[in-house]
Amino acid sequence: MDHRKDHRSGTEPILEKALPRSVDVRHLRALPSGIAPKAEVQDWAERLAPAFYLDVGNVCNQHCLYCAVPRDKAYRAQCQDVEWVASSAVGHGYDCAALIGGEPTVWPNLIPTLKTIREGGVARVILATNGLTLAVPGVLQELVASGVDCVGLSLDDFAPVVQRRLTRHEDNPRLVAAALESLAASDAVHTYVYTVVTGALSGRMAEHVAHCLEWANRFCNPPAFIFAGLKPVATALHHWPELAISMAATSQLVAEAIAGLAGGAAVAYRDIPLCQPGLPPAHSLDLAHEQGAIDLASGCTRPAPLARDRTFVAACQGCRLRRWCPGIYQDYVAAYGDKEFQPVV
Ligand code: SF4
Repeated sequence: MDHRKDHRSGTEPILEKALPRSVDVRHLRALPSGIAPKAEVQDWAERLAPAFYLDVGNVCNQHCLYCAVPRDKAYRAQCQDVEWVASSAVGHGYDCAALIGGEPTVWPNLIPTLKTIREGGVARVILATNGLTLAVPGVLQELVASGVDCVGLSLDDFAPVVQRRLTRHEDNPRLVAAALESLAASDAVHTYVYTVVTGALSGRMAEHVAHCLEWANRFCNPPAFIFAGLKPVATALHHWPELAISMAATSQLVAEAIAGLAGGAAVAYRDIPLCQPGLPPAHSLDLAHEQGAIDLASGCTRPAPLARDRTFVAACQGCRLRRWCPGIYQDYVAAYGDKEFQPVV
């Protein structure tokens, strides 16, 4: 099977993504008083922002159980639209593009479009990828030559049997290991390993951390390990019963990861409310990054309103971190209630 191909049956049509009027961005922001980020977390926060998100479509070559991207209809961006979004973003002062999908590396126009947007003023490109394509010899080098200097590699578990189940891709463990080898050997790219925390990691974080440290020692450029809360949306919501983990249990696992990795590698978390006991705020990327959107015609920036599927609960009223908090998924509150959330005063 060619893992560079997308996963569709071949009969499903791919729609053209509509030309967006605005584009999501992330900025750096000042942290609340009394909270200082870890130096290495701040370095990574600055590597990842300011940036604009360049969505090339939701087509992917995997069917992860925890996918948070709506996949009811397949769509792809058009080259000229991507180029217009990028040149507009550059014109409004954003010269770092964060490529997202779906899986950006299966977008057929990726390399020529990267070259075009680089010529148009995009200085840096961050690629979020499942890594399957990076297993192909020469692909990483081609991406680097086209401007990619930072790669976020999804890797949720080092145990092959678990990773196969989560990604629903039989060959994922072998291909992602090959991608890690390529990334580790490159001094032209910075890598963060992106782990969505599911119940599969319960009781196994020490083992996971040991693998992270083993890999960290092999990288030319020190990698970061970013742990993200599971989002009860899209495919992940459908598979919630087999993936689910409470916010308290997620936070406990992330706290274990931080304790195990701190000193050995950069470690951060995101998409986890800031009031969870045991979670050191100095490792939160949500504190360092503010999400927003720019109107591509006017350049007007607006702060991102709370995402449509998230909410605050009664306890958040008196919380001093509310301004920095990513909020709580509405479906999470519906399933687990709001007792885990207490204001930070
Ligand atoms: S109490 Fe609410 S606003 Fe404060 S950190 Fe928790 S979820 Fe966020």
